[in-house]
Amino acid sequence: MPVLPDRSTRHSTVAMALRTAALVNALADPAAGPEEIAAVLLAHGEPAPVAVTPEDVTAMRGAAAPLREVCAAASADEAAALLNILLAAHTGPLRLTAHGGTAPWHPHADADDDAPWAAWFLASGCLALTVLLWERQAPPGRTCASASCGNVFVAHGSGPERRYCSRRCATRERVAAHRRARTATAPGVD
Ligand SMILES: [Zn+2]
Repeated sequence: MPVLPDRSTRHSTVAMALRTAALVNALADPAAGPEEIAAVLLAHGEPAPVAVTPEDVTAMRGAAAPLREVCAAASADEAAALLNILLAAHTGPLRLTAHGGTAPWHPHADADDDAPWAAWFLASGCLALTVLLWERQAPPGRTCASASCGNVFVAHGSGPERRYCSRRCATRERVAAHRRARTATAPGVD
């Protein structure tokens, strides 16, 4: 899990988007409870202690579903249409907060600094994915090309387009493709 300890970088758009994708993926696991979700929040720079209740996790799962759809959108047009619906329904006036001087100034789109986790997650996710789409004129997220994975991820940085959420998925798929090719050329050997 990426750890983003620096005060300013962890409030950057990419950091917010990475955190959004990590939460969407963690919440997809039906076994994930308050402890697992709090661990994701801590790994992405939320200051300890992070108090998450089972009710928060249920509400956050509800918020993860539309964010996953945005991350899985095939085009910028599709992602923008989905984001516009979410922005209209779930974000308040854009405001800046420094959490009483404990963080650098950064934008929030939730109602206030004490909004429940689910409202914060949905609003901050919408905001991050909106800015990424704006900057890149491309879909803000992707779905892992491994059929057995299902994770969403945020492509960031330069370099070739990523197809997999992680090195682990890329390696597993490469090994599987190699095995399939070997079986096809030498039946009965594998
Ligand atoms: Zn994957």
